[in-house]
Amino acid sequence: MRKMPEDKVHKITSVTCTAPVNIAVIKYWGKRDEDLILPINSSLSVTLDQDQLKTTTTAACSRSFKEDRIWLNGKEEDINQPRLQSCLRELRRLARKRRSDGDSSTDVLSYSHKIHICSVNNFPTAAGLASSAAGYACLVYTLSQLLGVEGELSEVARQGSGSACRSMYGGFVQWRMGEQEDGKDSVAEQVEAESHWQELRVLILVVSAERKPVGSTAGMQTSVETSPLLKHRADSLVPGRMEDMINAIRQCDFAAFGELTMKAIVAYTFDAGPNAVIYTLQQHMAEFLQVVMQFFPPETNGGQFLKGLPVSPVTLSEELKSSIGMDPLPKGIRYIISTKPGPGPRLVDDPSLHLLGPDGLPKKTA
Ligand code: ADP
Repeated sequence: MRKMPEDKVHKITSVTCTAPVNIAVIKYWGKRDEDLILPINSSLSVTLDQDQLKTTTTAACSRSFKEDRIWLNGKEEDINQPRLQSCLRELRRLARKRRSDGDSSTDVLSYSHKIHICSVNNFPTAAGLASSAAGYACLVYTLSQLLGVEGELSEVARQGSGSACRSMYGGFVQWRMGEQEDGKDSVAEQVEAESHWQELRVLILVVSAERKPVGSTAGMQTSVETSPLLKHRADSLVPGRMEDMINAIRQCDFAAFGELTMKAIVAYTFDAGPNAVIYTLQQHMAEFLQVVMQFFPPETNGGQFLKGLPVSPVTLSEELKSSIGMDPLPKGIRYIISTKPGPGPRLVDDPSLHLLGPDGLPKKTA
């Protein structure tokens, strides 16, 4: 390797963080402002445990970097995507402001250096499993740590991807739509921590891990333009449902939680993609899973069918089997991820887990 002259060697500062996925039970669907990403209604979600689903992002800055760059899941992506730029611009502005307000805790003027970002999702990207939420929450959290920015960051994450603001907190999180034109009051807020409702479980039935044909942004635009019912939902239904849902969560009332998510014993929802997300309670997990496997038999040689939290097998009664009038559909579900509510973004202490190497480029494994 060519050796750099001593005065040309610039230090690289790196930070690595992880952030969770969140799945809404009262959905965000439709924007009133496309640039600032302001929604037409408030929404509420459950943040999922990072032991099963997470984004990991390393951000590094150095005077030696020539330009900002980003690698996502091993491939270099366009750093000039407007939403990526909104987040970078805003965090650099906040870092500069902090410095000019007299805080000199960051010894380098890192906001004036170029930044390299490397991120991986340990679950399918752009398949309707909220990779944009975990991805942008992780990006914003990691950059804030790198640049020494503190305070309310859900407003910045929102400008990357709306639902990312909810991944900035763990547990049960609401995103208040806000009223101001500048979006300063369109922020996320924790309703209850993940420890509040210990029995709640989440099963993700992955039927396809493929990139979805219509992205959420385009889907929302079409709905806002063509559906008069969407406006009715936002204006007349969601405000009351938000209140009811917050009460259901505070009281750990699964019947009300499920009914508000949908009317069923277990509550299912779809997060802008084909994969179903099931909310249930710990005591129903084993039986419910057995029912799913009865009707969607796992593919032999299809790899591990149940990933995440273990569920012990049970035998279904003949009565239950015959009460569900449906023929088995082999290969209908590729695999299931079993998880639960979890905490918000966190810093990774171990430097060996950085995704960028000492040269500021992705390590071979990233
Ligand atoms: P999803 O249903 O997975 O959220 P979207 O189409 O709404 O799918 O969003 C996917 C987009 O989110 C990706 O194309 C990419 O731009 C962005 N994204 C996903 N993961 C990350 C990540 N780890 N870091 C930064 N951006 C990400």
